Amino acid sequence: MDDSAPRKGRVLVVEDEADLGSSLAYALRASGYEAEVADRGEVALRALDLFQPDLVLLDIMLPDISGLEICKRVRGMQGRRQPAVIILSARVQEIDRVVGFEVGADDYVVKPFSVRELMLRSEARLKARQSTLPAEGATASDKPAAVFSLRNLSVDESAHRVFVDGREIHVSALEMRILLHLFRSPGGVRTRQELLTEVWGYHPDVASRTVDTHVKRLRDKLGPAADLLQTVRGVGFRLADPG
Ligand code: CA
Repeated sequence: MDDSAPRKGRVLVVEDEADLGSSLAYALRASGYEAEVADRGEVALRALDLFQPDLVLLDIMLPDISGLEICKRVRGMQGRRQPAVIILSARVQEIDRVVGFEVGADDYVVKPFSVRELMLRSEARLKARQSTLPAEGATASDKPAAVFSLRNLSVDESAHRVFVDGREIHVSALEMRILLHLFRSPGGVRTRQELLTEVWGYHPDVASRTVDTHVKRLRDKLGPAADLLQTVRGVGFRLADPG
């Protein structure tokens, strides 16, 4: 069902630091992507039309139009498939707005970042996007791959990766399932019994205290994002409100 030579995708690099822009384009082309660089917002908006990228690597601080504004415009584009967006930000404080629901970026990296890490993230985003392309025989109800974000916590379901403040933390498959179940019920409480059933598949010999043990371990791993995973006394667990 795949093409014999699958296209790796077009990437638009929006970056006004010339050295960074060209080294990213170089790394992308070396990895088999088509890449274009826009060194200011006006150029980027034109390139979105002409180049029709699959992925945009988007610097926030540009000389004319802010990267956040460009991201909003990308998300407002009608009539064709929107590119994935990875924000390149120099300021950790901006992350909430970026990956939150406000501008709708898919991912972000904080400068300075390793080019290798950015290449891996780019590949993950393009794969996730590819997997949401309607394949032959697919139905409209096929679920798109999801990235869940809450403040400084971001969970990439398809790539099975978790980031806190832009740094990856390593979680077990079980801990990942706990996070995903909580993200799928935003603001809602999941009882211990529900989590046992959903995450462990309900084994009568698993004590409900097991849930607490795993949540505690997960919280320790989340570090600065630990307080997002809240205990509701006597009931279960929930994620903090986005606000
Ligand atoms: Ca810049």
